[in-house]
Parts: sequence; C-alpha cells; structure tokens
Amino acid sequence: MADSKPTRVVILGGGFGGAYLAQSLQKHARTGELEVIIIDRNNYFVFYPLLVEAGTGSIEPRHCTVPIRDFARKSELLMGEVKGLDVDGSTVRYRLIGDDRDRSITYDHLVVALGSVTRILPEDVVSGVREHAFEMKHMTDAVAVRDRAVELLELANATDDPEERRRLLHFVIVGGNVTGIEVVGELETFVRDATIMYRNLRREDCTFTVVELAPSILGVLPEHLHQWAHRELCDRGVRIHNGISVKEVHDDHVITSEGDRIPCSTVIWTAGIAPNPILSELAGLPLNRFGGLECEADYAAKGLSGVWGLGDCASVPGLDGKPMPPLAQIAIRQAPQLAANIVATVRGRSTRPANVHVQGILVPLGRHRGVASLKGIKVHGILAWAMWRAIYLLKTPGWRRRLRVGMDWFINLFCKRDYVQLGMLPASHREFHGRDQTQERDSVD
Ligand SMILES: Cc1cc2nc3c(=O)[nH]c(=O)nc-3n(C[C@H](O)[C@H](O)[C@H](O)COP(=O)(O)OP(=O)(O)OC[C@H]3O[C@@H](n4cnc5c(N)ncnc54)[C@H](O)[C@@H]3O)c2cc1C
Repeated sequence: MADSKPTRVVILGGGFGGAYLAQSLQKHARTGELEVIIIDRNNYFVFYPLLVEAGTGSIEPRHCTVPIRDFARKSELLMGEVKGLDVDGSTVRYRLIGDDRDRSITYDHLVVALGSVTRILPEDVVSGVREHAFEMKHMTDAVAVRDRAVELLELANATDDPEERRRLLHFVIVGGNVTGIEVVGELETFVRDATIMYRNLRREDCTFTVVELAPSILGVLPEHLHQWAHRELCDRGVRIHNGISVKEVHDDHVITSEGDRIPCSTVIWTAGIAPNPILSELAGLPLNRFGGLECEADYAAKGLSGVWGLGDCASVPGLDGKPMPPLAQIAIRQAPQLAANIVATVRGRSTRPANVHVQGILVPLGRHRGVASLKGIKVHGILAWAMWRAIYLLKTPGWRRRLRVGMDWFINLFCKRDYVQLGMLPASHREFHGRDQTQERDSVD
C-alpha cells in the first residue's frame, strides 16, 4: 500500500462543502492514501453568514473570507475556472486564472461542490433584474450595496427636492426569507445611522421596503417568531408587502404584481437561489429539472461511479427522503460523511446514507435584535442576536479569524462605522454587461 500511487480525489469548488470535505478527507485517509486537489476560481471561500455584516461595515470584508490553502493545508489548490468534464475519460477541463489556455486533470474520484447562484427569473416573468438589481451572493455584491448606499446618501444630501431625496434613499429588497431580512435589518441600521453625518438628511428620509410573495416573511421559522420579526421591523419603519411579487425592475422604480409603482433607486434581489448553471456544461452529469446534481442517499451521482455531489449544487435525499436544503450548516456536516464514503469506496467497503438535518435557523435583524430557533429553543430580541453572534463566532474557521471578527464586533460597540466606499464593482452588474458572472472571479483586497 505504501508504494502504490495515491488515489486522486478532485473537488470542484472549494467553498463551504469542498473545503470542509478536503479537510475531512485528510483526517479519514491514511498517509499517502489520497491526493486531494481542489479547483476553485478563488483562493478563498466566503464565510457567508458574515457576508451581510461585512457589506454593511460591522466587520472588515476580508475577515469573512477563509484562505483555502490555509484551511485545507494538505490539499493542493488549482486556482482556476472549471470549464468542462469528460466522465468517460475521468477528466476535468479547467483554466487557471490569468492563463489563456485550458488544461486538464484526471481523477479517480470527482466531487462536484460548485454551489449555487441567485435565482433570476426569465425576462418575460420579471424584467430588468440583471440590469438594475443588486444581488447578495458574492463579496463584491455585499460591498457594492454599501458603496451604492454611500453614493446615494451623498446625492440625496445635495438634492433640494424632498421627493427626489426620498426616492434616492428608498431601498427595495425582493425576497423576505433569511438573506433578505438580514439585509434589510443591517441596511436600515447602516443607512439611517449614517444620516447623522449629513447636514440635509434625516432618518425619516430613508425608506426600506420588503416584497415577499409568501404570506409571511421568514416562513422557515415558527409563526410566533416570524410575526415578532415582522412587528420589530415595522416598528423600525420597514415596509413589508406580503403575498405580492415584483414584475418589473427599472432604474428608478419597480412595478409590483398588483401593478403598483414604487419609486426607488436600489433594488436588492434575494428571492431564492439555483444550482450553479455551470453544471449543465459538465457533460454526462445527471441533473434534475432545477439543474441540480441528482444524487443517491450516499452522495454518489446517480448512474455514475466515482462521481459525488455535495452542498448547494447537489440534490441529496435526507433522512425524510426529501433533498437537503442549501445551507452552510448542511454542507459542513455532509462533508465528513462524504469523506467517509469516499475512503470506504477506496478501501472496497460499503458506503452509508446521508444523515444530516437542519439544526436551527438564526436571523440577525440589526440593532442588536434577532430571531432564533435552535434545537427546540425559540427566542427573539437581544438574546437571539447574542446567540447568533456567539454561534457564528465559534463557527468562524480558525482562531486568528475568530479573533479578528470578535475585535471588529467589540470595536463596533463603542465606535461608529466608517461610511466610506470601497470602490468595488458588483458581480451581478458585470454579468449584465456581457461577462458571465459564474465565470468571473471575485476580488477581495
Ligand atoms: C448572504 C448569505 C448568507 C448565508 N447565511 C447562512 C447562514 O447563516 N447559515 C447557513 O447555514 N447558510 C447560510 N447561507 C448559505 C450557505 O452559504 C451555502 O449553503 C453554502 O455556502 C453552500 O456551500 P457550497 O460549498 O455548496 O457552495 P459555496 O460555499 O458557494 O462554494 C462553491 C464554490 O465553488 C466555486 N465555483 C463556482 N463555480 C466555479 C467554477 N466554474 N470554477 C471554479 N470554481 C467555481 C466558488 O468560487 C465557491 O468557492 C448563506 C448564503 C448567503 C448568500
């Protein structure tokens, strides 16, 4: 065994699922048993639960990124764009970032962990989203929203027309689930608190509207919690429209499904996610009707040997037979189970079915408030907010990053945020201007 060639595992995507899998594989395998190679367009992954706070200045953007080389030290990273797949020849085609030619690599086992993208409906269903709306999926998106907010505060401050000022400072968030509500809570805090710096602005000049198709916001939480969150946000002046959707997004207004015109200058689209569309370009993968990788209960791609799925892009049946939800807490706990199954297969043993379920949902609402439902504990207010912070601080990978995030939060208790622009282009807007977002590499300096 010691002299034989290691089994090569290639992981497509070094995000939550891929990076934790690489770590777990090294823990499960014997020395020299596996060669683990990650292909990701970035040399870091985003610790998503902190993304909105990074965008709105509670923490430094860099502090919610995790360098893959540091996190999965015994693995090799190829910083490149996945381009194609030949399942019969067990070969992946990729292009290193900054290079102009494709390369290929063979594998013994392949793991597809390419994550998800914001679900944007076709133009004939909802028009103007790609052109005019912001997303909240990439680091660049989070910082672009903050840049936009600062730009609008400056413009509004220089405007004499009160109606125009209110339009400039009207933010519409489409989608009232966990991400959308976190965004509105943090943005409301960021923008309204910033008005103190501007001579001509008052807190009341800023408006925040949530449009959610479902009958309530935060439908994933028990009724009394989402009702509490609704009341809390309304008390802070956030307008919530349930049971309607947005049909058209324009530069200076949106049109709802009821035909109402809402004047605004910023729309943030958080109405769902979809599996990474690159999967449809990877020939031979079994995809379901939503474009996700169809997997067996042990993470194996249906009908393929040596190909596995993980995280948001994979449809893996959970304990109840339904596909597991696209959450970081799921991807992180799928990773060691998949690692054990890959090692078992390499050693000629049988695999085990997935055994992961959602442990809880915690949503920060800004202003030291939140709602949380975790392992039967259901709380709201400052306790839920403190729980959210404590849990995600503990879950932040590595003690150095934990220390940095903890320091950012501590300093924020006493000092006001810096209302400055960081000058980033939103990934979503680059996509509209003809460069495919999924092919783009984020940059974080
Ligand atoms: C704003 C926000 C907040 C969230 N908060 C929470 C939370 O509080 N709790 C929770 O449980 N979940 C949360 N989630 C969901 C969670 O982030 C995802 O479920 C999790 O990241 C899924 O992991 P993954 O590995 O499948 O995908 P990802 O972590 O997205 O990783 C996919 C990787 O693939 C890479 N990639 C994609 N395409 C290519 C390509 N063509 N070539 C090369 N590389 C490629 C990407 O760079 C990325 O590193 C949040 C998501 C968002 C957007």
